[in-house]
Formats: sequence, C-alpha cells, structure tokens
Amino acid sequence: MNLEMLTVDAARTAVLEKQTTAMALVDAFYQKIEAEDPAIGAYLTLCKERAHRQAERVDALADKGDALPPLAGVPVAIKDVLTTKGVRTTAGSKILGNFIAPYDATAVARLEIAGAIVLGKTNCDEFAMGSSNENSGFHPVKNPRDHSRVPGGSSGGSAAVVAAGTAVASLGSDTGGSIRQPGAFCGVVGLKPTYGRVSRYGLIAFASSLDHVGPFGKTVKDVALILRHMAGRDPMDSTSADLPVPDYASEIGQPVTGLRIGVPKEYFGEGLDPEVRASVEAGIQELAKAGCEIVTVSLLHTEYAIPTYYLIATAEASSNLARFDGVRYGLRAKEAKTLAEMYRKTRDAGFGTEVKRRIMLGTYALSAGYYDAYYLKAQKVRSLLAHDFDEAFAKVDVIATPTTPTPAFKLGEKADDPLAMYLADIYTVTANLVGVPGITVPCGTSKEGLPIGMQILGRHFDEATLLKTAHVVEHALA
Ligand code: GLN
Repeated sequence: MNLEMLTVDAARTAVLEKQTTAMALVDAFYQKIEAEDPAIGAYLTLCKERAHRQAERVDALADKGDALPPLAGVPVAIKDVLTTKGVRTTAGSKILGNFIAPYDATAVARLEIAGAIVLGKTNCDEFAMGSSNENSGFHPVKNPRDHSRVPGGSSGGSAAVVAAGTAVASLGSDTGGSIRQPGAFCGVVGLKPTYGRVSRYGLIAFASSLDHVGPFGKTVKDVALILRHMAGRDPMDSTSADLPVPDYASEIGQPVTGLRIGVPKEYFGEGLDPEVRASVEAGIQELAKAGCEIVTVSLLHTEYAIPTYYLIATAEASSNLARFDGVRYGLRAKEAKTLAEMYRKTRDAGFGTEVKRRIMLGTYALSAGYYDAYYLKAQKVRSLLAHDFDEAFAKVDVIATPTTPTPAFKLGEKADDPLAMYLADIYTVTANLVGVPGITVPCGTSKEGLPIGMQILGRHFDEATLLKTAHVVEHALA
C-alpha cells in the first residue's frame, strides 16, 4: 500500500474491505515514521499504546462485520497544542516538557469516536507563536518538499506529516494563519473553520478570541471529512456554535456556476512574489472557466491587519500564559527562596525568546497608561476589518487571495528578524480577527519546485462553499 498517497476514504475502505487491518496500517505508519521522520522532525511524541488500543477496537468491529464508523482506521496526527489524555502535551514549550494531559481535547475525542487513530503529537512553534516552526522549544521542523526550507508555522509539524505521508491527515491550530500558511508551504490542504465551528476545549490557549482548531489533508475531501466529524456545539466551550454541521463532503464536486468570487486588490500589491501571483491568478482563471463570476472587491483596512493582530494576540497571550507559574503545570525551577523567585526562575527557564517577547508586548499594550492607545484602538480597527468583509460578502460569495506572499523560505532566513517573520502572515491574520473561515489549496509550484497555495475565504459558517470552490481549483490544477 502506498502510504504517501493514502486518503481518508482509501484508508477506511482498505480496513472495511479487509485489504488490511487497522493494526497493520498503524504499524506500517510507525515504520515509516521511524525511518523518515528523524530527518524532518515533525513528531514530538508517538503514542503507540493508545494507537494500538484504538486499532484493536476498529479491527474488532470489522471482524464482527459491524458498520464501521466514518473515519475507521484513519491514522492521524495531532498538533501538540491539543491535549491528549495520558499522553505528553507540550505546546512546543519546555515549560510543559513533562506535562501529561489529564483529558482529551474535544476535537481529538470526536475524531477517535469516529474511528480515527492518533499516531502521535506534532512539533510546533512554542505556544503556536511563529511562522516557521523555528520557535519550537525542542527542534525545528524541515519542509518535506525541501529540507533546507521551513515548513511554515506554527502548525509546521502537522503540515509536514501530511506532506511526507507519515499521517493521512492531522489537526492544527490557527490563530493568525498557522494552518493555512504551513499548508501552503508544504503543498497540502489546510482549513481554518469559522470561529465557533470547532470546540476549543483542550486547545492550549494562545489568544482565545483568535484561536481555531482545524484539519490538514492531502485533498479537499479529506479536510471536509475530518471537519465534519469534529465540528459542532460542545457544552465544554461556550463559544462553540449551536448550529447544524453539514455533510461537507457531499458538496465536493457540486457545480460552482454563477458563484461570485471576490478578488481583493489589497492582496495583490507590493511584496507579492511574482510566481505566487501568477499561480493564484491561474487558479482564479480556472474558477472563471468553471462558470464563476470574478469580481474585484476592496478590503480597505487590510494594511492595518498585522499591527492589529500583533496587539490583540500578544495582549491575550500575556494573560493566557500567566497560568504557567511552576505551581500548576509542568516545569518548576529548583532552588528558589521565595514564591516570586520561583515564578521568575520557572518562567525564565521554561519560555523561549519569542514567547517572552510577546508576553512583554502584550503586558505593555494592556497596561493602564497605554490601553487606550494600543489595545482599545486595535479592537476598533478589528471592527473596521469586520465591516470590510461584511461589505465584500454583500457582493460576492467567497474571496480568493494568495495564502502567503512567498513560497517557503530558508531555515534561518528570518529567524533573527521578528518583523520580517510577522509579515509572512499578512494575508491570513485578517480571517482570524474577523472569524470567517479560510482554506488553503495548492495551486501551483515555483520554478524551484516549491508549493504555492491559494487562500479562499468565506462567510461565517459557510465552510461548504469554501470546500466546493477549493475542490475546483484542486481538480483543475492537480
Ligand atoms: N504566525 C502567527 C504568529 O506568530 C500566527 C500563529 C498562529 O496562527 N498560531 O502569531
């Protein structure tokens, strides 16, 4: 069986039709991981015992001839910011280096109920802060398409395992682009659902009003299947929406004739790599050929998105990360004489440079003297950005843009320049500020053979239209 090409449906069918057992499939993946992952560094922890237990359950159902659940036997990987009961969960940070989570994140639990098998936990930027995976507290991840380049971040490990075929699908988190940007860099499909579509229970918080859980897959259909089985209201997350979850996969292949595609001029300006522009424009042409109407739109306040994001994200992070104090979780510094010294030493030893930078920025933006000038102003701009999208979505059904300004950059290239790194998210952060869903779908490769992604944004809770549109691009350019 070619594990690299294996899709969600193919994995389930193979188990259902007894071409293999879930156990054999899991072991084949572990063999591949052990042979190939050391060169990439995408996994932080493997959970073989848990995977074998789940494989046994699936195989027992298959033996009895019972109807198999929808994701039966599908091997998946989970970004290490989602808690997994009894399995080390680090958020990519040394401060949680020895933390064993006491419960499962809802998204993970739901995938397992649907029959998926968790192979392990994937590497990421520390507390999901980064765009290259170089901020991992453990080691960087390499892009499987070119080992001299970054896989993107912060969900670089989850994008890399799908690109490398060391998992069929995976989960990531996206606070400012962390699913879509690594998806584009690694040449896989990645979806950030609408805020509230997927429960955040068990997602280690970075910036709670911007954090989203979402899937990576090789195909749009795979992402549709994974989303379906983890979405929906969860009593453990009061921000999860009580709305029906459509059968997204049934949208794939439906006609898109008459669909209005908005192309925002602000996303095609200075700083956009010419090859990325050409590939995304080719993708938009395919949508036109499929009968879509292409409409130029304006998202007027786009230039303020990055500063707005970095104020709100850091402010929320400074508050969320206050809980890592050496008392409740993970690492505790030894040899402190007072409580305050213990906090200080723990946080100094446990957090990396970028996390410390953000805690300081966020604390500053929230401080009494500066709150109005920074945090409050950022919240006002956030409303203006939301208004831009309301106006655009009055005229169009979806919006098509590049996912990233350039293809994957070299490891180390931006590591010493946080501002340059922040600009890697210029096209993705707005969707988090506004809460609309966004998907990245491969739409071409650069001359150097690097993947290029097209981003499609949609109305709140209209993931179905996004998936249908992304499939047209995937199908035309495959
Ligand atoms: N790269 C962005 C940041 O560093 C987004 C991260 C994310 O989406 N988790 O904050």
